[in-house]
Amino acid sequence: MRLFNNESGRVKKHCKILATVGPSCRSEERLEAMVKAGTNLFRLNFSHGDYDFHRESLEMIRNVQKKTGLFIAVLQDISGPKVRIGKLKEDVTLIPGDIVEFVREEVIGDFKAPHHLVVSLNHPELLDKLKPGELIYLYDGMICTRVKSVGESVITEVLSGGMLSSRKGVNFPDTRLEMDVLTDKDKKDIAWGVEHGVDFMAISFVQKAEDILRVRRLLTSLGGNQDLIAKIEKFDAVEEIDSILEVSDGIMVARGDLGIEIPYYRVPEVQKMLIRKANTAAKPVITATQMLLSMTHSERATRAEISDVANAVLDGSDCLMLSEESAIGEYPVEAVKTMTATIREAETEYPYFRIRQLPYNDEMDVIDESAVNLLQNIDATAILAITSSGQSARKLSRYRPRQPIYAVTHSEEIARRLTLVWGVVPSFLSAASSARQMMIDVIRRGLESGVLSKEENYIVTAGDPPGVPGTTNIIRILRRKELEHFAKMAQEKGLPEDWE
Ligand code: PGA
Ligand code: MN
Repeated sequence: MRLFNNESGRVKKHCKILATVGPSCRSEERLEAMVKAGTNLFRLNFSHGDYDFHRESLEMIRNVQKKTGLFIAVLQDISGPKVRIGKLKEDVTLIPGDIVEFVREEVIGDFKAPHHLVVSLNHPELLDKLKPGELIYLYDGMICTRVKSVGESVITEVLSGGMLSSRKGVNFPDTRLEMDVLTDKDKKDIAWGVEHGVDFMAISFVQKAEDILRVRRLLTSLGGNQDLIAKIEKFDAVEEIDSILEVSDGIMVARGDLGIEIPYYRVPEVQKMLIRKANTAAKPVITATQMLLSMTHSERATRAEISDVANAVLDGSDCLMLSEESAIGEYPVEAVKTMTATIREAETEYPYFRIRQLPYNDEMDVIDESAVNLLQNIDATAILAITSSGQSARKLSRYRPRQPIYAVTHSEEIARRLTLVWGVVPSFLSAASSARQMMIDVIRRGLESGVLSKEENYIVTAGDPPGVPGTTNIIRILRRKELEHFAKMAQEKGLPEDWE
């Protein structure tokens, strides 16, 4: 595999795209086309598919990475305690006034009398927590019912009806469920993710910081160190966002479930709040769900969807997600292309260079802001962040420079994790023992790989001694004169190991 990535063959944009893998895009050709169209990472959704399915997807993604020489990360989405109804004998239509009875035992759902449907839940213990008057939503919010009585079974009345089919999602926005964030299946799935070396794990239905800490402890005990993304899709998680952000490596604005758990009309405002907080904390944030939903079955998105994508970019998202559009849709590649075109256009109007707008969390922030300030005010093409943990690239990204942040790191794992971060291009790998050796290595490999051009100026940030996370203490201007000189020497005597 080529150990560099100058984004040749992939369109340039700052905001990243995460595409969900499903039956619609499961061939190397499709996946490669999606990468070339602007996909930076793929999501394996563990709410669907078995281990064989996901293992095969992973193999395909890794082959595409080898073939293209681009870093491509994999996010494993752990399904969490998603509540679903059981199987139904057949699809049913409910109208206002109908009774839906939830029973504790597992049954095949069916009408027991006209307008009286009996169904089971995958988590029957929840029935004990319900109280009369509380609302229950079925089919991801499409159908709304209200609890009438709680006893041996729970009787609810339909307030707004619709079609219902087997295993559809159930939400309880009024009820404090206090569910365990990990099911037994989730624990097995996490072990699978560790074994197969996924880059990120997204944790569904997080309610509090302790949930993430618990997952982290399990992960550590399994020998994994994946980055954990907290999916914000519960009312409680919105309330607890500050402490959740502190212990997570990033968050997802999971608007599908969130829009049922909180009033739908609050989603745009909560989205902006979550993104702002994540940006301030230098943690990547993914905006997800229904972004281009109509493209699941249509070649063209609606005006409203395009507008949503553009606004999510302007809100400050690091990454946007495709769900059904890429997983089960008819136009997965077109959906990526549409998203990319919309991102690129939005980025012509982007409020770049957030200088003196963000609070400093530590001394590194001051250094990184200075580097971006310099980048804004001298004629430089890009900033090269030499980073051992990836942290300094994430911190530079916080200031949203117009020019790309080329990340140089010693590990492929870190490089892949940076694919999620706004404006960061994980470029190549380099490990040197001294700062001087590191500069030479970066120039040499940069020129070789085409990431650097000898006609341009660059800014380099690094830590001396190298390899210690969180110690950025060098801002270096790399002038074109210097690069020309280096390249000339290279032409005469081969690429030098050192230069005077
Ligand atoms: P899901 O998460 O697709 O796993 O449900 C995203 C969301 O709820 O928006
Ligand atoms: Mn969800």
